[in-house]
Amino acid sequence: MRKVEQLLKAQARVCVIAPVLDAGLANLRDAGRIQWRCGDFSPAHLDGAALVVAATDDAAVNAAVAVAARERGIWFNVVDDGANSQFIFPAIVDRSPLIVAVGTAGRSPTLARRVRAQIEALLPQRIGELAEYAGRWRERVKAALPEVSRRLRFWETFFDGPIATRVLAGEAPAQLDTDIDIDATARGEVYLIGVGPGDPDLLTLRAQQLLQQADVLLHDRLVPSQILDRARRDALRIDVGKSPGAHDTTQESINRQLVEWAQRGLRVARVKGGDPFVFGRGGEELAVLREAGIPVTVVPGITAATAAAASALVPLTQRGFSQSVTFVTATGAGSGSLDWAALARPGQTVVFYMGGAQIDTIAAKLAAHGLPPTHPVALIERASWPEERVLPATLGDLSGIARRGQLQSPTLLIVGEVAAFAIARGVKETARLPPV
Ligand code: SAH
Repeated sequence: MRKVEQLLKAQARVCVIAPVLDAGLANLRDAGRIQWRCGDFSPAHLDGAALVVAATDDAAVNAAVAVAARERGIWFNVVDDGANSQFIFPAIVDRSPLIVAVGTAGRSPTLARRVRAQIEALLPQRIGELAEYAGRWRERVKAALPEVSRRLRFWETFFDGPIATRVLAGEAPAQLDTDIDIDATARGEVYLIGVGPGDPDLLTLRAQQLLQQADVLLHDRLVPSQILDRARRDALRIDVGKSPGAHDTTQESINRQLVEWAQRGLRVARVKGGDPFVFGRGGEELAVLREAGIPVTVVPGITAATAAAASALVPLTQRGFSQSVTFVTATGAGSGSLDWAALARPGQTVVFYMGGAQIDTIAAKLAAHGLPPTHPVALIERASWPEERVLPATLGDLSGIARRGQLQSPTLLIVGEVAAFAIARGVKETARLPPV
């Protein structure tokens, strides 16, 4: 059945010779997708075949099939017997029209499958579409650039450039359907990459692929070096992190650097913690880049709220407990800009980002708007980091925590009935939670 499926996928015409068909094969026959010759094997069955697969569990029959195929000069495969086969079915990465075959000459199909899985992870899902796309332009590029070395250079630049990035992101640029802009391939571009909460395993595949393409990285302070190390070794790394109180790289300066590097024709990765569009000022950077006409690709990342919720085993929504979840920045919690009455309503989950210094204010405001001191909360420090810590608590526990210097940043505060599910974790520090 497995072989038939692979062969059909490759558009072979398949004839099964067997005394009986199992249910799967019978379905294929009923659907007209395969032929069936009912009966025991006889060498004459092979006449006219292009390939033969001996897939019985009877070694004598398999051997007879091999002999008959050899006599007729037809290539044969004996299933699970590479040594007695003339061809093999390799493990395949199928991003048609791009195909990668991995084989170990029958030594270890399991190893081949593992290597295949690694290649799968490495190749963008839409690389087949990219191959199609390039194929559509092949003749025109050939005509426009008759000189082989120029053409080679063109294609090298093309696959590294913004057009390829866009095709891989699922949008085939329409203007290319009429005319390929050869100079444009040498233009710079920017990737706004969200790299998640810290653990490199929580990177997306696309983040990893684009990190490897970038010539320049502008990264936040909190992005760990293990993630930056996924970039090319010769890529330039610039720390544009804004640490509280320290000498800032202003947002304006970051915006300017992004534009300048891209205008020099480089591929610039703006590497941000979490998701670029959740309290990450990604929107401002996007606007500046669009204004400057620089192609931008945005890669979503796992945001701190979902990472912290996973760490604490707190479902952000849960039937009967919470019907909505709100992400709030606690910066300016005291300034009156937040709708505390709405945030203090029960039956919902509220996640406060950047709340470390504001915990007292948050607790006081929520209490003032009617949440009881017993209302569950969870503090999650450094979600997904080795030093991660989960503190289940109640609203009443919160006051004074920050003042006593008991929080390690970055910290996230989850407020809501679901926080009661939080499981204390991390450095035997749970004991540090002060008594009410
Ligand atoms: N764009 C980011 C958020 C940047 S704002 C994202 O989507 O996650 C920075 C705030 O995010 C921090 O003050 C903290 O509240 C939260 N944060 C970021 N990483 C965190 C982590 N690993 N654990 C807990 N909170 C985190």
